[in-house]
Amino acid sequence: MIDSKPRTLAGALLLGLCALGATSASAAPKYIFYFIGDGMASPQIHATEAYLGALQQDDAEPGGTKSVALHMSQFPVQGMQTSYANDRLITGSAAAGTALACGLKTNIGVIAMDPSATRPYTTLAELAKRKGMKVGIISSVSLDHATPAVFYAHESSRNNYEQIDQALLASDVDYFGGGGLRVNKWKSAQYADLSNAERYTLVREWARARGFQYADDRATFDTLAPGLRTIAINPYLDGSNAIPYALNRKAGNYPGGPYEGSISLAEFTAKGIAVLDNPQGFFMMIEGGKIDWAAHANDARAAIEETLAFDDAIRVAADFGARYPDETLIVVTGDHECGGMTLGFAGTAYDTYFEVLAGQQLAYDDFDDRVFEAYLAQFDTAPPNIDATLWELVSTYFGLDGAKLTETLDDDLSDYELGLLEAAYDKAAHNHSDNVAEADTLLYGGYNPFSVTLTHLLNRRAGIAWTSYSHTAVPVPVLATGAEAWRFGGYYDNTEVARRIAAAMRVELDQ
Ligand SMILES: [Zn+2]
Repeated sequence: MIDSKPRTLAGALLLGLCALGATSASAAPKYIFYFIGDGMASPQIHATEAYLGALQQDDAEPGGTKSVALHMSQFPVQGMQTSYANDRLITGSAAAGTALACGLKTNIGVIAMDPSATRPYTTLAELAKRKGMKVGIISSVSLDHATPAVFYAHESSRNNYEQIDQALLASDVDYFGGGGLRVNKWKSAQYADLSNAERYTLVREWARARGFQYADDRATFDTLAPGLRTIAINPYLDGSNAIPYALNRKAGNYPGGPYEGSISLAEFTAKGIAVLDNPQGFFMMIEGGKIDWAAHANDARAAIEETLAFDDAIRVAADFGARYPDETLIVVTGDHECGGMTLGFAGTAYDTYFEVLAGQQLAYDDFDDRVFEAYLAQFDTAPPNIDATLWELVSTYFGLDGAKLTETLDDDLSDYELGLLEAAYDKAAHNHSDNVAEADTLLYGGYNPFSVTLTHLLNRRAGIAWTSYSHTAVPVPVLATGAEAWRFGGYYDNTEVARRIAAAMRVELDQ
């Protein structure tokens, strides 16, 4: 068509429009923010909004504030995506992330490659670099976890942490921020005798040799220089090298506290803007990784606090976008739902009491490790039943009362609830090795029976229920604002999210 002369005026106009389209490459948004809430779909978003509403006015009262919209929910364009993997309806983070990063389906566990794991897929981050943009990858879990990895690595398995870490260091990504690396998963014999601290020393040396500035404490993080390639790791990491749960950090980030100086996802995002800003613009992927983990554990309050921390990071991008509205595109989505979370429980029927979730002071993992294990450690043989000391802890950390310690009836456990909790305590405290029976799998999902029962009881009282300890296949919202946001309306597949971002960026993903 370009070689042939237009035969009509309409043809000439069409050619002129095509030429306009070609020159509009310069109009691609300069700043792209791609937020992925792992395990976040409508239930996780709306449970958070209903919780905020219940805090403003007790939702047991009719006519109270029922919902407070998050920043992401106020974005003007809304879409919905299907999340299935190439080989399974219910996806996993690697396959879903590959679709979101590359616009192509793959099998469960594969990182940015085809289902046979022979052909690498080109990622949006790689295309952004080719275009001259800078790239940032941020996650609240480890930086080599499936969702961040699909943007810079190509591996047959998400569990190839050693290879993914090498790909991270060899990549031309300009900024990594958030959790650490799963150095404890390295398998080569040469690292066998090294402690995790010694492995991190190696990472730091390799990073500096590759031209990265490296921060893993608050003081260094606060003084990172703009414009330099950067790896920034939270000073506190959990057993999976992720940033500790936002709920735990909220409880422990004070002078002398267990998480003093911890760095939030919002701060990592703000630092990304400072480090990456340049005349060619940037592409930044920010993962809220532990919404998923909290949902796996059926801990609603922890999932809500992770969603709030994720939304805080979105607010940082939205504030930046407000300064450059014609040059900034912000896209928010999830990779899949997790936990089969829903708003409504058989025991509470049409009623909700989300304010009771405020009684929970720690996420399940810190309750397990810092409270319950410390309690059990004082005994050679744990008491046969929940004793007065443990009831005090349950009341303090979950606002539930099975021993009539308090005078409020709404924190008193019913006989049925008491039975469930005593049975769970027995499993947890007396190390029953039969915690593999079908009933136990359904009741506790492999988590500490005591704490998972506490979150179940508290969640049900709020009117929240769970169907699974795994992901589910419900469609996932896509929320967009800024330049080219119009592209994200409609109902489509998760591969389309990446393809629409590529179209906005004027780059071509693989077919
Ligand atoms: Zn996921």
